[in-house]
Amino acid sequence: MAKKGTIGIIAGIVGVSAIIGIFSPKKTVESINLSIPNSQTEYDINTEIPIEISVLPEGVDTSTLEYISDDGITFTESKIITGNMEGTYYFYITSGDIKSNVLRIRVVDIATREEAVARWLEQEQATKEAKAQQLAEEQASKEAEAQRLAEEQAAKEAEAQRQAEEQAAKEAEAQRQAEEQAAKEAEVQRQAEEQAAGQAAQNAQTSEQIEGPSDTQNSNSGASGDPGNFNTYDNPSQQQTEAIYVLNTHTLKIHHPSCSSVKKIAPQNYATSNSSLDDLISQGYSTCGNCFK
Ligand SMILES: [Zn+2]
Repeated sequence: MAKKGTIGIIAGIVGVSAIIGIFSPKKTVESINLSIPNSQTEYDINTEIPIEISVLPEGVDTSTLEYISDDGITFTESKIITGNMEGTYYFYITSGDIKSNVLRIRVVDIATREEAVARWLEQEQATKEAKAQQLAEEQASKEAEAQRLAEEQAAKEAEAQRQAEEQAAKEAEAQRQAEEQAAKEAEVQRQAEEQAAGQAAQNAQTSEQIEGPSDTQNSNSGASGDPGNFNTYDNPSQQQTEAIYVLNTHTLKIHHPSCSSVKKIAPQNYATSNSSLDDLISQGYSTCGNCFK
């Protein structure tokens, strides 16, 4: 009988337990944890991001969970949907007094950012090209300046060359004129000598012509008496005199005693003198062309 009673008690406990199990209040949420599988540092706009939600205890009623997020993103029981605004967004879950961890995502407009990067790259490229252009212009300017300086130098050298040639031409002309002048003087000298020689020859001839006949004429009383003979007189003794000059008083010529004409002077025309040449010339005498050369 006792055994039967024990069985009855056990059955009763089990039955109560079952009743408690069926009628006890629903389990309450104890903890909520959020995570993003393969999370990234940034998400594009208008993108779905899967969210893992773990709620304890197991099997708890999740209908009471509230999904809370900043404006600009949409938070549902399995995912986040980003909007079209860049920014940093926070989200979490609550259930009564229980609050999950808070997650943060950063949303960027990748297309716009890429455009910006592309624009920046373009600008960078343009800047580089402008700089290269500037350097090329600077280089061209330097080369032009070097070219200008070289041309200036060449012009200076050409001018110096020209001046040197001009100077050389002047010197050559001066040389030429000096030679011309020397040639003229030599010609004048030559003509003077020629003239002097001609004069001397003429004087000699004149002396002989005049002295001969005149002496002869004036010596008609002489030995020969032949007026055509120019060599009528030949008196070398007339050269033997201590006097400085011998004079022909007829032709008014002054001779040195050694002159060959002296011995042909007719004795009546013969005279000697120690007077000065100036005195004799003032008396109408002139020097013999032969012995006064
Ligand atoms: Zn003479």
